[in-house]
Amino acid sequence: MIAKNMQDLVNNSSTIRAMFEEGKRLKKLYGEDKVFDFSLGNPNVQAPKQVEDAISELIKEYPSPILHGYMNNSGYEFVREKIADHINQKQGTDLAAENIVMTVGAAGGLNVICKTLLDPGDEVVVFRPYFGEYRAYVSNVGGKLIEVSSNSDTFYPDLEDLEKKISSKTKMLIINTPNNPTGVVYPEDFIIDLCSLLEAKQKEYQRQIYLISDEPYRELVYDGLFVPYLTKYYKNTIVAYSYSKSLSLPGERIGYLVIPKEVEDAGEVCAGINVATRILGFVNAPSLMQLVVAKCLNAKVNIEFYEKNRNKLYEGLRDIGFECIKPQGAFYLFMKSPMENEVDFCELAKKHNILMVAGSSFSSPGYVRLAYCTSYETICNALPAFKALAKECGVGK
Ligand code: PLP
Repeated sequence: MIAKNMQDLVNNSSTIRAMFEEGKRLKKLYGEDKVFDFSLGNPNVQAPKQVEDAISELIKEYPSPILHGYMNNSGYEFVREKIADHINQKQGTDLAAENIVMTVGAAGGLNVICKTLLDPGDEVVVFRPYFGEYRAYVSNVGGKLIEVSSNSDTFYPDLEDLEKKISSKTKMLIINTPNNPTGVVYPEDFIIDLCSLLEAKQKEYQRQIYLISDEPYRELVYDGLFVPYLTKYYKNTIVAYSYSKSLSLPGERIGYLVIPKEVEDAGEVCAGINVATRILGFVNAPSLMQLVVAKCLNAKVNIEFYEKNRNKLYEGLRDIGFECIKPQGAFYLFMKSPMENEVDFCELAKKHNILMVAGSSFSSPGYVRLAYCTSYETICNALPAFKALAKECGVGK
């Protein structure tokens, strides 16, 4: 029999699994092009050509022990140095190889951070709506998740609520901008206010409060929007970056953590992260992929593809009469459920072959999330189905 704790986790993850199965069932029944699956954040955009070229070159360039061997748990030093230089050029930071640890995607990085920083009972603040996996990452090591609400018009976190929720047990906050599931990018003045509140709270409690910036969507922004680099606003910031979305490589499991020297106890934190990488069983990030990303630092996926999808879906849904805010980044659209219970709304949508994720998965009932990393045709073909769905729930003219 599996652990009680794991039974709960299995039961709680059943909605997304069920959605996946439902998608497969509907596609078999009606055909791939008749099912409008907006449930999963699995990029439909090709990885850049440089990735394929880099793999071919690397296989010829490096002898096997380097290409496929173990290395320092933090990753290849020359790869970390190249990444540090690249961030310095883009963000004007002062990072070196020792400030970078290669990770198994952002998920691996976040688990490593939780293992390194949290004692049982330590509190981790998250902003609703948030990526539901944070719950497990924090509870894996006995931490306690504290939810802070967001403004319902802008989806910016509510700083008054945050002020009340930070306690002497708060060890870290997780922030995610561009955001999954809202697509919102937090502006610089909000970041400045957030960071000054954190500074004040660190002083009040005489304890470090780490700001963890979860950034898998940093490169996916529209309309030339500025995404502040948080290490420049608050000293105790650790960045969890990933190539899953920026290079369309989610199955390759590659990303990195940034621990700037300004972080208090940076040396100890890095040593902890290095050990956590090993003992959580990652051992190190995939060796070939470390070498690949070092060759592809300036490569980009086709952002215009996502932007075209965003425009079509947002404008289409708004014209039909649904309420949603225009995503500024990532590839998610958060829509208000016209029915009181958004789970019922998702069920009704399935009858129109539309698959979406209920907001309760992100701790925000009353909304649904649509991942528009689909083909453009899927969006065009889905709009009449959304129109029929709207009619059935009394939305629009
Ligand atoms: N954080 C957020 C907000 C995400 O949306 C995801 C994946 O969808 C992750 C972390 C994990 O990404 P990765 O594939 O880099 O582990």
